[in-house]
Amino acid sequence: MSQDLQINSLSLSLSRYPKDAASDLRAWNAADELLIEFAAELSTIPQHILIINDEFGALACALLAHPNFTNSHISWLSDSFIAQQALAQNLQVNALDASQRLTLLSSTDTMPKAELVLMRLPKSLNYLEHQLIGLQQSLSNDSQLACGAMVKGLPKSVFGLFEKHIGSVTTSLAKKKARLLFGHYAGGKSAALYPKAWNIAEYKWQLNDHANVFCFGKFDIGTRFLLEHFPQDEFESVIDLGCGNGLLGLHALSLYPNARVSFCDESAMALASAKNNVALNHPEHLTRCSFNHDNALQHQADESADLVLCNPPFHQQNTISSHIAQQMFKDAKRCLRAGGKLIVVANRHLGYHPLLKSYFGGYKLLASNNKFVILSSTKR
Ligand code: SAM
Repeated sequence: MSQDLQINSLSLSLSRYPKDAASDLRAWNAADELLIEFAAELSTIPQHILIINDEFGALACALLAHPNFTNSHISWLSDSFIAQQALAQNLQVNALDASQRLTLLSSTDTMPKAELVLMRLPKSLNYLEHQLIGLQQSLSNDSQLACGAMVKGLPKSVFGLFEKHIGSVTTSLAKKKARLLFGHYAGGKSAALYPKAWNIAEYKWQLNDHANVFCFGKFDIGTRFLLEHFPQDEFESVIDLGCGNGLLGLHALSLYPNARVSFCDESAMALASAKNNVALNHPEHLTRCSFNHDNALQHQADESADLVLCNPPFHQQNTISSHIAQQMFKDAKRCLRAGGKLIVVANRHLGYHPLLKSYFGGYKLLASNNKFVILSSTKR
């Protein structure tokens, strides 16, 4: 559902992506409002603005619509496919022509020079650290860096990371439970810390993960459990849905020597990590792989797979929700051929059983322990 963001004389109609008529969750929060107010009050208008981690495009839309910034160029950097789609949708609805004034960048791109950086605090501290190190390329001593955060999601360690990689930090007053951190760049240069090499000895895997990947540098216990219960069969077309660093797809490449494996994730760093990890462990199988930046399986052809492996997320950006899992199960059903299987690992308390029953007409319990269940549904 669309809602109107009103700040000073600005009025924008904004919605999340995908649009959900039943949801009244807004496409911006109080931290975005503080960032927009801060930018609008600047006495010197920046030529180059860098926006980072804009969840649903509210920051970019507000600056593009604001009369102060008609001659500014905006670079917009995000890891998220959903954020990119939300931005495109909100630009269109508000008739904002961004073609000459906006450059889209991925999380793995180098950060451009900017006099003003507006960023939303990312959830992952590793990713924050990666971004602060990257910002050393874009900031000069005169640049302004404002980072918007909700007070409850602002651990003390964030200040330490700013001090280590940027310089001193000051803060705004809190307003509607949000505040801004201002980083004053002192000119330091840190060694790059990401992507980071690690390994999983029991599978003899060498890994190289980007900063914003799920369970960075650790072996998730749900993933481990599913790896131990892979179906023993012949498959031709396998999807690692929500692939993270690609461990499920990596195992599928070894177990199913004739299968094409499609790695799908909404995070660009997840896909870049999965690609790194296939290249490190099975370079000879790269030609059997594809890496797809997508929202669930939106761009995957109908009836094109015979196995979908999925350890679904239970939040979108900062909001806990089962709607991504639902979307994934629904898309998996559409993309599976008759007789194809969806295998899901999940915390027992998440109770995905009724969802699978409603989409597939049933499910089998393949394995369970005190924390997880592995469920399998077959397309009829
Ligand atoms: N498969 C990996 C594993 O088992 O280690 C990662 C699982 S992690 C619980 C869920 C993954 O889903 C994350 O990598 C996240 O980026 C991805 N994800 C979240 N929302 C998504 C969406 N809408 N479409 C595709 N992937 C999504």
